Amino acid sequence: MNPLAPSNESPSPSGPPPDRPRTLLSGRGDPFLSRVEGETGANISACYQCERCTNACPVSQYMDIKPHQVIRHVQLGWREALLSSTTVWVCLSCEMCSTYCPNEVSVAAVISFLRNMAFHSSIAPREKLLAVFHQTFLDQLRKFGRVNEFWLMEAFNRHLPILKEKIRAGTLPEELRLGWDLWRKGKLHLIPRRSKAIAEIRAVYRRQRGEVAP
Ligand code: SF4
Ligand code: SF4
Repeated sequence: MNPLAPSNESPSPSGPPPDRPRTLLSGRGDPFLSRVEGETGANISACYQCERCTNACPVSQYMDIKPHQVIRHVQLGWREALLSSTTVWVCLSCEMCSTYCPNEVSVAAVISFLRNMAFHSSIAPREKLLAVFHQTFLDQLRKFGRVNEFWLMEAFNRHLPILKEKIRAGTLPEELRLGWDLWRKGKLHLIPRRSKAIAEIRAVYRRQRGEVAP
């Protein structure tokens, strides 16, 4: 008998026939779910959709997939929807969601992992400017081991599309004024200070790129 041939068997009203393994709904997303759980250490399976994470999130109104829905999407293995969402770029990594979760699900760590996954995927980011900011931030971190606000904004504004967008939106004069105020108050430093842990930080980056064994 061809095991791939369609079956004429009518479905049992009380569940699948005894010779067919029972499949849980979350079983469809298992490889993706296992990967996210393995990489983030988040106990995603513990989520019972209480929505406390979403209620605690200060920017959930700007997300197309809310934090509690992110966890459900991972359980179901809906990878593409997550990687093409605005959520992965809008998230501030403030950790409020993780703090308020009664099951200690690290929602923030999951979204951060998905953001990196989206960044390295072929899926075009829904929030292009935020994706550029993300890359600029990581570049600065790799260079100095910490983020220097002056050089971060200098590097970000050096991207022509960013500058054009700011000119179009008319936000550039306000940003320059803010920069000047911060400078006068001694909050901006022209000479970036390197972190003492720069070697370790760069090693993390190299491991991420698969250059050395973890
Ligand atoms: S707060 Fe925790 S348990 Fe509740 S929906 Fe969010 S992740 Fe799930
Ligand atoms: S870490 Fe992201 S998802 Fe969680 S509360 Fe903060 S902004 Fe919202």
